[in-house]
Amino acid sequence: MHIPDIIIAIDGYSSTGKSTFAKKIAAELSFLYLDSGALYRGVTLYAIENGLISQSGEIDRPALDRALPELDIHFEYKEGGSRTYLGERCIEKEIRSLPVSGKVSPISAVPEVRSYVDRKLREFGKKKGVVMDGRDIGTTVFPEAELKIFMTADPVIRAQRRLDELNGKGEEATLEEVLRNLEERDFIDSHREVSPLTKADDAVVLDNSHMSMDDQMEWFKDIIRKRFEKA
Ligand code: C5P
Repeated sequence: MHIPDIIIAIDGYSSTGKSTFAKKIAAELSFLYLDSGALYRGVTLYAIENGLISQSGEIDRPALDRALPELDIHFEYKEGGSRTYLGERCIEKEIRSLPVSGKVSPISAVPEVRSYVDRKLREFGKKKGVVMDGRDIGTTVFPEAELKIFMTADPVIRAQRRLDELNGKGEEATLEEVLRNLEERDFIDSHREVSPLTKADDAVVLDNSHMSMDDQMEWFKDIIRKRFEKA
């Protein structure tokens, strides 16, 4: 498919398959894919490894503020996929682990962390021709995005998908643990003060509870045809 270089913002609840869908779309349109959650996860990994989160979950905000300007989290694009790096170290696997998932929402609620990530995302967005997924892309980071999609699905179906993904990577977890984690994240993400997760007024909703990836791509292509392709 050929369409103008636009920004496509994909937001929605945890584990609704945003990144898989966004990557497919990016490949279909030859656009750049940007995973905003990976940046929040990278900051979280840094905070965990450097003792900036106490056992009880308290965040050392002053130390985090001091660290952010020097924090080099970036993407490298290899073999058609993107990998997240912290300095020279590939952190793609670590940032998807349950310990990071368990702390990422409180870290993402810190306003200075949000400014750090927003700045990076807006820099990438200057290129246009990008698909970005997250929680506040269509509402805060790129309110001017030409296409906004808001993804949702039944929580138990989402938890099962995430569990399968974790198991596939050899990580042990139970359905209850995963469900609890994603409901907790949805709650914190939707209730935080700075740019909470919410559907942009002009976003189209995609509930993929009972849709295959092919169904979702058909749905997407239909929208693209109607909105962007010249007759
Ligand atoms: O998308 P992913 O599940 O990897 O995101 C991890 C976490 O990062 C989310 O639960 C949310 O707390 C945070 N996030 C956010 N805003 C974004 C993307 C992710 O707050 N745009």
